Amino acid sequence: MNQVEKIENSQTEKNALEKDPLLHIKKMIQSCIQCGTCSGSCPNAFAMDLTPRKMWRMVLMNRKKEIFQSKTFILCSSCYYCTLRCPRGLPLTEAMNALKEIAAKEQIPRYKQTTLFNRCFIDSVRRHGRVRETEFMTHYFFAMKNPFISFRFAPLGIKLMMKRKLAIQIPSKGTAPLEAIFKKVEEVENR
Ligand code: SF4
Ligand code: SF4
Repeated sequence: MNQVEKIENSQTEKNALEKDPLLHIKKMIQSCIQCGTCSGSCPNAFAMDLTPRKMWRMVLMNRKKEIFQSKTFILCSSCYYCTLRCPRGLPLTEAMNALKEIAAKEQIPRYKQTTLFNRCFIDSVRRHGRVRETEFMTHYFFAMKNPFISFRFAPLGIKLMMKRKLAIQIPSKGTAPLEAIFKKVEEVENR
C-alpha cells in the first residue's frame, strides 16, 4: 500500500468512526461467541450492572444508550483476566478502555466525576513524573467545583497524614520529567 492509499484509508476510517464511535470496538469483539467466560472470570462482575458478556452483546447490537447508562466499563480495573481467558483471544481490556475513552471524549455527564479524577491524576504524573497525592486531590476538588466533596475525604486524609503516608504538598509546576513520553503518546493518538 502506497502513502496516498494509507492516508485515504485512515481518512475513511476517521469518517466511519465519527459516524459510529463504537465501530472499532465492534471490530475488536466481533467474533465473541457469548460463552460467558469473561463474566465468570471478572473479579468486579458482582458490582457491574451489565456483565462483560452482556456488554459485548450490547456493543454488537449497537445499544449505545444502554452501554453508556451502565457503569460496567468504569468498574473495570484493567486486570486483564478476561482477556487472558477469552477462548477467542479477544482484546477485552482494550475494548473496556475504548468505552472509557468514548465516555470521556463525549463528556457524558454520568462519567464527569471519573473523567475529572483521571485527568487530574494524569496531569499530576505529567508534572512530576509520579502522582503527588495531596496536590492531585486538591486539584480534583477544585475541578469538581464542589467544596463539600473534600469533607468526605478529610477523615481519611488526616488518618493517612498521621501515619505519615501522606505529605502536605503545595501545588507546583514540577519539572515534567516524562514530557517527551506524553508528547509522543499525544502524537500517536492524533494520527
Ligand atoms: S469470553 Fe470472549 S467469547 Fe466468551 S463471552 Fe466473553 S468475549 Fe465473548
Ligand atoms: S479487565 Fe476489566 S472486565 Fe476484564 S476481568 Fe479485569 S476488571 Fe473484569
